[in-house]
Amino acid sequence: MVSYHLNTLTQLRAGLDSRAFSARELTVHFLNRIAVHDGALNSFITQTPEQALQAADLADKRLAAGESGSLLGIPYAHKDIFCTAGVRTTCASKMLGNWVAPYDATVHHKLNAAGAVLLGKTNMDEFAMGSSNENSAFGAVKNPWDHAAVPGGSSGGSAAAVAARLVPIATGTDTGGSIRQPAAYCGITGIKPTYGRVSRFGMIAYASSLDQGGVLGVSAADCAVMLQVMAGHDARDSTSAPVPVPDYAAQLAQPMAGLRIGVPRQWFTQGLAVSVAARIDDALLELEALGATRVAIDLPDAALALAAYYLIAPAEASSNLSRFDGVRFGHRCDHPRDLNDLYERSRSEGFGAEVQRRILIGTYALSAGYYDAFYVRAQRARRQIAAHFAAAFAHCDVIAGPVAPTVAFDLGAHSADPATMYLEDIYTIPVNLAGLPGMSIPVGFAGGRPVGMQLIGPAFSESRLLAVAHQYQQHTDWHQHMPAAYREDVL
Ligand code: GLN
Repeated sequence: MVSYHLNTLTQLRAGLDSRAFSARELTVHFLNRIAVHDGALNSFITQTPEQALQAADLADKRLAAGESGSLLGIPYAHKDIFCTAGVRTTCASKMLGNWVAPYDATVHHKLNAAGAVLLGKTNMDEFAMGSSNENSAFGAVKNPWDHAAVPGGSSGGSAAAVAARLVPIATGTDTGGSIRQPAAYCGITGIKPTYGRVSRFGMIAYASSLDQGGVLGVSAADCAVMLQVMAGHDARDSTSAPVPVPDYAAQLAQPMAGLRIGVPRQWFTQGLAVSVAARIDDALLELEALGATRVAIDLPDAALALAAYYLIAPAEASSNLSRFDGVRFGHRCDHPRDLNDLYERSRSEGFGAEVQRRILIGTYALSAGYYDAFYVRAQRARRQIAAHFAAAFAHCDVIAGPVAPTVAFDLGAHSADPATMYLEDIYTIPVNLAGLPGMSIPVGFAGGRPVGMQLIGPAFSESRLLAVAHQYQQHTDWHQHMPAAYREDVL
């Protein structure tokens, strides 16, 4: 019998392999949870129950034939930024609307081949621009811990769905924090791998030099299993790294003894909520009890990182989004007078306010006369930030700190002021600028809302981060907490 509290991939794998339940029964269980609960959350843009049942039946056949595999028959959801042939991909934009990609993203192709069962595509901030999931043409998503709060963004639908156990695991993307921050706000585990670790082929581009696909799940052990399938070199993505993928699950038991955890002095100053700092301190004490040592390090330029990011990301976005012109993809205005009118009206009608704001900023920053003053200087700042991380890693093996300055804020709290919303990303953005892997793990609550701790490592140290998170989760149970409204079986 499947039940809501059976939800780690290890438990689901064991149940499938021992025939305690079939892939179809498991799929029906999660489809029912989505049907009952998603009305309150709005975490899905598109549900794919028929395809899911077909995929589940296929998985059952493969299981019956004696096959197994880490994800065979395991249900999951995709952030609606991954192209899926046959299922629409909207990027939460009116611009794409009902667009159906003619091909699969590499990530989707790999998950399909592994026999994972897609239940649907999750809500997000339009074109992944945002920190609250309020910038979606399909409406805001609610935080399952408190429906007055945002789930974080931009992978807010994936985070809310996993937190409410509407799916056991989901994909996300992280350009400046979009996996880690919603994972923190929803009390789940998320990993943004090293830039180049997971193929970007078929993942709709926001800021190509920063975008990276990753995982939102219940535990680090689950994220390890999912990342294993998603990661690896892809000839169709020229920025994909030709670096072998280690066996993440096998390395979860790496010992903590002797591990040096760097804690950036500058990240625990004004701006960080006292209650968030306290929960992170508790978690650091726990890691010390497991044998790690804490060392103070310096990462001086978080504010600089924010400024650099909000030039580089919009600059790349303005170029990437120029393809949505009313001619080749998606929305086209009615009765255009001429070509300029077609471009102008299609784009003004198709893109939401935040996307338009970023296209304007990016176009301005790249324009002749301003390019050196803004874009080139931002790129210099980016190199400096990467150098500071490299210097810090001479003194520590991983860095630990906050994911965001506060817990999940109320819906609407930052809507009037984009600049305060941008501050939510102050601890996550430097990691993307340096191309490093980062994780968020749940470490407690403040005012009833979850607190996340961030772990950051040198390039391609995912197995180390996953192991630290796993060891912590072996000794604490924050990752097993579930929002009360969803702790009930749906029959
Ligand atoms: N919140 C950041 C932004 O709006 C990061 C988004 C992301 O990581 N996709 O750009």
